[in-house]
Amino acid sequence: MLDNPTLAAIAVRLVAWHTAHQRDLAWRYAPPGRRDPYRVWISEIMAQQTRVETAGAYYARWMAAFPTVEDLADADLQEVLKLWEGLGYYARARNLHKAAQIVVAEHEGKLPSDRNALLALPGIGEYTAGAILSMAFNQPEPALDGNVKRVLSRLADIDRPITDRAVLKTLWSLARALVEAAPANQAGACNEAIMELGALVCTPTNPRCLICPVAQSCQAAANGVQQERPVMPPRRSTPHYDVSAGVIWQGGRFTSPLLIAQRPQDGMLGGLWEFPGGKQEEEDATLADCLKREIDEELAIEIAVEEEITAIRHAYTHFRITLYAFHARHIGGEPQAIGCDAWRWATLDELSDYPFPVTDQKIIAALKAERASEAT
Ligand code: SF4
Repeated sequence: MLDNPTLAAIAVRLVAWHTAHQRDLAWRYAPPGRRDPYRVWISEIMAQQTRVETAGAYYARWMAAFPTVEDLADADLQEVLKLWEGLGYYARARNLHKAAQIVVAEHEGKLPSDRNALLALPGIGEYTAGAILSMAFNQPEPALDGNVKRVLSRLADIDRPITDRAVLKTLWSLARALVEAAPANQAGACNEAIMELGALVCTPTNPRCLICPVAQSCQAAANGVQQERPVMPPRRSTPHYDVSAGVIWQGGRFTSPLLIAQRPQDGMLGGLWEFPGGKQEEEDATLADCLKREIDEELAIEIAVEEEITAIRHAYTHFRITLYAFHARHIGGEPQAIGCDAWRWATLDELSDYPFPVTDQKIIAALKAERASEAT
């Protein structure tokens, strides 16, 4: 394992390397340790499970719309979800909104600099709390994300699966020891540096050990096993589902409104709008049967299913789907919000006012392409 003098040397080298090589990202407008806690919070939540390049564009739009915690707290949730549209993991946006309201109500609009107070806010876990405390307040608190886990498991040559509880505990202890060994007032820089090393040098495949600033302290590199670290658990196969969605026209196709439904707030993609439908069950002989059943259960209306518009493949964290979208006609019944939070009749052009998941945005694009080809 890495001793304290080694960790202190690693911290110094990391910070020096980071000063010279860090990427120019929108939220790095001030040195780590001296940034606005609100901006650190937003950038950290956005960058989770999202490529940095993608997060950068969203961050700029977000800061233009909600420059302060108060602006976010005062915003309508639908506006927040609309700005988040396409980033995925929408619970992050809902939690940001909820937490901003708590920060305004209970902390005078300022993100707390206390670990437990931060952890009490919705959507802030150990990693985000550590990132905020170190990047905004320069406190020597660890922030263990995927990049840091990989770098530390190589530096310490950890040969057990990275998902083991004991290994995770070791990694958190190592991350804490490293940030505590960093020079005074460089806790934020040290955390950001090790994340950046993981993103640019100590990458998942083919780590660039020849240019690595901490190669002389790396036990996996010394043992020639850096490609085999971190040890990953055996992969489980991901289930796949066929899902149907209906573009239900009130009257004529493209000349009348169509029906959209809002997903329940507390579930996956909660609060977003979608073309109603659902997963094909064993009882559904065809996808059309599935769609009719789902629409009846969700909205209590009768529809006629017509041609397929498009089929979209999408992977979520724990499963994959193929989403088949169909044109459909409303035959009878007034829609009722049974399996959804709300419903609307809206024209194709009005859909841009509502936040939709990526899959449904692709259906909208297919509809617009079809309308354009019919017009020519
Ligand atoms: S020497 Fe190689 S494996 Fe070790 S930390 Fe550097 S890049 Fe990663």
